[in-house]
Amino acid sequence: MSTITPDASALADLGAHFHGELVQPGEPSYDELRRVWNGSIDRRPALIARCTGVGDIQAALAFARRTGLPVAVRGGGHSFPGHSTCDGGIVVDLGLLKEIHVDPERRTARAQAGVLLGELDHATQEFGLATPAGIVTHTGLAGLTLGGGIGWLMRKYGLTIDNLLSVELVTAEGDLVTASEDQNADLFWGIRGGGGNFGIVTEFEFQLHPVGPILLGGTVTWPMQESREVLRFYREWITDIPDELTTAVIHRWLPPLPTVPPALQGRPVVIVLACYAGPIEDGQKVLAPLKAFGSPLLDLCVPRPYLELQGMFDPSFPHGRWYYMRSCDVAELTDPIVDVAVERGQAITAHWTSYPIFHLGGAISRVPAGSTAFGGRSSGHTFNFVGATVGPEGFETQREWVRESWHAIEPYQTSAYINFLTDEGPERIRSAYGAATYDRLQALKRQYDPSNLFHLNQNILPR
Ligand code: FAD
Repeated sequence: MSTITPDASALADLGAHFHGELVQPGEPSYDELRRVWNGSIDRRPALIARCTGVGDIQAALAFARRTGLPVAVRGGGHSFPGHSTCDGGIVVDLGLLKEIHVDPERRTARAQAGVLLGELDHATQEFGLATPAGIVTHTGLAGLTLGGGIGWLMRKYGLTIDNLLSVELVTAEGDLVTASEDQNADLFWGIRGGGGNFGIVTEFEFQLHPVGPILLGGTVTWPMQESREVLRFYREWITDIPDELTTAVIHRWLPPLPTVPPALQGRPVVIVLACYAGPIEDGQKVLAPLKAFGSPLLDLCVPRPYLELQGMFDPSFPHGRWYYMRSCDVAELTDPIVDVAVERGQAITAHWTSYPIFHLGGAISRVPAGSTAFGGRSSGHTFNFVGATVGPEGFETQREWVRESWHAIEPYQTSAYINFLTDEGPERIRSAYGAATYDRLQALKRQYDPSNLFHLNQNILPR
């Protein structure tokens, strides 16, 4: 595609105020910096603005308003549909903003917008503390938090947004504002689930909890042929587990990784993933029925550092592979849904294609539905069908598997998690939030971003 060259005098003015790095096509680092996690996204921004602070973000937004170029905001670059990059626009890259301050007395942490999940965990685990976030360490804290944030501590401590105390945010007009329960409370409501629609968050403040440092967690694995029996056992077992336990079921082929015995690599399996956020002895009792069910091929659910558990899935989702995902929530694992799950597992035809089913509930469901902008408080489970290939070869086949899988589960969907959507259109976004929440988000959008400067996201239309 042709390269868009930004207006020279606007660029000169930006250069005069900008302390970070401005990278344009043709510069040595451009190709490296324009990449995002999903290798199937190949876009060529006109300018990448690597910000070092609030002033740089304000200058980049002034430049965008003046030139009319589209704005993509990049935290960790993990948006499945590639919302943190664009063709011919400006990428406001927050990846250099890495400061983290932990206050062990108050059990709080402040983290800047370029922090990745693993970096925050490392800083907080120094004090035996953590805040709930996601299950892959190289995911960006910013995008994950603004959409909600599900992970191994969610049933005990809630979503990431349920532990958010305040943010600093630069609005579309360039104003720096604080949002918390006490300041700009409406905005604080909206950014807890509303994504990057209202401004660029520069810093987050979280509540922390004592976690680990050693927890009972990991995987129990059965052959894929036993998927129906495992799912039926699982759905009964989870009706009576404490909030300390968060689990997911994943169907996949065992990956060719050093942690998997060579004889089992490539074998189609069903796996229950577990994390018990409490005393190990209590966890052993709670997990005993799962471990005793049938004849597992592998039982790797053992006491281990929380940090190790958090990194367990990193090798399965590396940067640069081609990924496509569709997702939705369901209320329960009913017989027809189990039928779909079993059939879709058997239809997997590639090493890196998989689908986790996350068990929600617990602390998430006890937060009143309308008190944040997150849409799926009462959902029971989240299905994520993820098709993946090493490169373009075979990608279309995996994408088709994802589409077929999603169509099979669609009749049972109750809701959807905004951070797991791909580009599915305004109606899908509205239904993911529910009409009442969407209408309130729309009013907030009119107030904070009436011209929709921040539209490369799961977009709330101002009108
Ligand atoms: P980016 O691509 O940088 O940004 C995503 C969106 O957020 C964009 O629209 C962007 O404009 C906006 N944004 C980013 N930073 C800011 C900011 N500072 N201010 C305003 N807007 C901003 N989600 C979970 O809840 N739990 C999980 O366990 C989980 N695991 C994942 C594992 C992998 C491998 C991947 C790829 C994703 C996972 N996700 C998970 C989904 C994840 O929450 C979203 O992809 C999220 O958008 C990633 O955030 P990011 O900052 O890396 O993304």
